[in-house]
Amino acid sequence: MSEECIFCKMIEGQVDSEKVYEDENNVAILDINPSSPGHTLVFPKKHAVHLSGLDDIELSDLFFAVDEVIAILEDSLEPDGFNVGWNHGQIAGQAVPHIHVHVIPRYEGDKGAPIQAIVQNESEIDVKAISQKINSKSASVTANEVPKSEPQVQEVKQETTENEEGKKSDKEGMEKNKNDKEEKDTEDEDLKEARKKWENMKIPRY
Ligand code: 5GP
Ligand code: ZN
Repeated sequence: MSEECIFCKMIEGQVDSEKVYEDENNVAILDINPSSPGHTLVFPKKHAVHLSGLDDIELSDLFFAVDEVIAILEDSLEPDGFNVGWNHGQIAGQAVPHIHVHVIPRYEGDKGAPIQAIVQNESEIDVKAISQKINSKSASVTANEVPKSEPQVQEVKQETTENEEGKKSDKEGMEKNKNDKEEKDTEDEDLKEARKKWENMKIPRY
């Protein structure tokens, strides 16, 4: 909890809000200044400014909650679609420094726009150059393959450096990552339990 944070105060019941969903770790409230009817904010009870402040299970739980909120809004308000996302950092429009996912119902004829319309670039973007810049700085492994905060990250980075030097093929590197992941899955009892919990909680909707 952060003393200054409006969302933490809501969680503590010190500030009123229109709650539409709550579970052990997350809460969802109606936005006080909605972009559309049913505009909802989903956030973890743990105070974190960005996604990076949450661990793997907290992240999964948050997106489980987002999915539940979408189902609740679908059932109650019957919108035609949703835009779902979050403002990461002040420049992107984040006013409340407690990570929250905006779930914005969309209705036929609402004159809205897709999420890609948030930024209007005036100049051409060289996608290949951007790709090179990104890939020269980061290991090209997916978040799924390398859980956050694990020593594996270091191993995989090393692997990638070796790949870059041509000592190992991409295929070997990927095999190794896959094997590491399988081992990790077997070992990680916490994750297994969490998955079981989510499976039990999941209400079939279709
Ligand atoms: P951000 O710009 O940080 O992504 O979004 C913050 C959102 O929180 C805004 O859409 C704003 O309307 C909403 N908000 C700010 N203060 C309150 C409040 O006191 N109650 C509720 N329900 N929503 C709030
Ligand atoms: Zn907070």
